[in-house]
Amino acid sequence: MSAIAYKRNAANSPNRRLCDIVNFMSNKPVNCRYFYGDYHRGNNKEECRLLAASPSNERPWRRGHCNSCPVPELTRETNCRDLLLEAQVQKRFLNERVVVTFSVCGKHLMDLDDPLHCPECAKEWESIRNSL
Ligand SMILES: [Zn+2]
Repeated sequence: MSAIAYKRNAANSPNRRLCDIVNFMSNKPVNCRYFYGDYHRGNNKEECRLLAASPSNERPWRRGHCNSCPVPELTRETNCRDLLLEAQVQKRFLNERVVVTFSVCGKHLMDLDDPLHCPECAKEWESIRNSL
């Protein structure tokens, strides 16, 4: 058997497929602008680009963190047009969770107390609505 054929068989072995199924079932799909996955040609690289770019984060990202992460919902629900976030993995009791530590409206260069709400973006939405 050639090396290539052997590799191909190993990739399709029942064990390999079982691992894929277990991974798939224990992790919801990540629908997040900061999640990066590269599976091209046998690569299996995944990364959270939000945590990677957050200087205060000290705990390494794991795929499991995404399952309870508040960020995908925040980025969907916020009224802010250019929400910029920093986050870190924090340990609480026995769990590690992603916590947003800093949020800024990039359009109005304003710190936001609540990443869901930029008061200036709210005014703009309001004037757009009134001009219709
Ligand atoms: Zn704003």
